[in-house]
Amino acid sequence: MGRNAFPVVFDGHNDVLLRLGGPDGGGPGAFFERGEKGHLDLPRAREGGFGGGFFAVWIPSPKEQTLGTRGLPPALDAAFALRRSMADTAMLFRIEDCSDGKFRVVSTAAELQRCLDGDVMAAVLHLEGADAIDTDLDTLHVLYRAGLRSLGLVWGRPNAFAEGVAVHFRRSPDTGPGLTEAGRELVRACNSLRIMIDVSHLNERGFWDVVTLTDAPLVASHSNAYALCASTRNLTDSQLDAIAASDGMVGLNFAVNFLREDAARDASTPLEVMVRQIDYLVERVGIDRVGFGSDFDGVLISQEIGDVSGLPKLMSALGEHGYNDQDLRKLAHENWVRVLRKTWGE
Ligand SMILES: [Zn+2]
Repeated sequence: MGRNAFPVVFDGHNDVLLRLGGPDGGGPGAFFERGEKGHLDLPRAREGGFGGGFFAVWIPSPKEQTLGTRGLPPALDAAFALRRSMADTAMLFRIEDCSDGKFRVVSTAAELQRCLDGDVMAAVLHLEGADAIDTDLDTLHVLYRAGLRSLGLVWGRPNAFAEGVAVHFRRSPDTGPGLTEAGRELVRACNSLRIMIDVSHLNERGFWDVVTLTDAPLVASHSNAYALCASTRNLTDSQLDAIAASDGMVGLNFAVNFLREDAARDASTPLEVMVRQIDYLVERVGIDRVGFGSDFDGVLISQEIGDVSGLPKLMSALGEHGYNDQDLRKLAHENWVRVLRKTWGE
């Protein structure tokens, strides 16, 4: 998949399934045509050396709903959440079905490595919020059999298991209650099924509950350092230290408002701001525990990158900044493969 001088990128988060399923998304076939809209499709991914990543099933809250507790959207209706999750999950499998072998939903680390070594885009099925999971965990078991290997307990709203962090600037990420009893059961179930648990979007109390409960490396798939951008969606130094202690990892979110010191939604944000975040994360958690979690097709990113085809510009900026070839391989994909191997088993 690498068509440039840089190591292939495996990425912690994208929302392309939602875009393809939307009114102008074009469906699974559009993934194979070079588009102008959004950030991610197969032709642009090849140009950018993007070899795969976590493909999120994310359900937007209905627009007509008014905000509930603590300014968050209310919990989703269970039937709605399940129907929408099935639609996005089916979209992922339809992409695989019409890919002529160029796109594969992977469920083991060995399979992931084979795809990265070959010319096949690797996709990990990820639920961004457990809104579609029932508290008997029947859906979890069925989705596991279908290939689910990564789960965020929440997006930015409450569900039966936990509550998502409310997005604020220059406030503490301690915005609400921790895990419910069902949430604790869900963590234990993910541990026993070896489904990766993603702590991005959890509020701080939920985060520390996961730290206490889980026996897997802690992973924040698409979050940055709070010390450089004081958004509640980012990770405080003590959260980063807990991630390092668990030998987990952080994926750099490309959203300019989670990168910049002023959190402005400004597409003219220079690449140096991303490099500075990488520097900080590497210094805090180590070069073996940082990767990318672009949030392609979900957020506003720097126009210097533009879309997935601009990834080599980031790699080049990191190289010029002093990261050597081995460092770049770790940041690009090796750390993700290592953490997934530890979490999933061989
Ligand atoms: Zn997200």
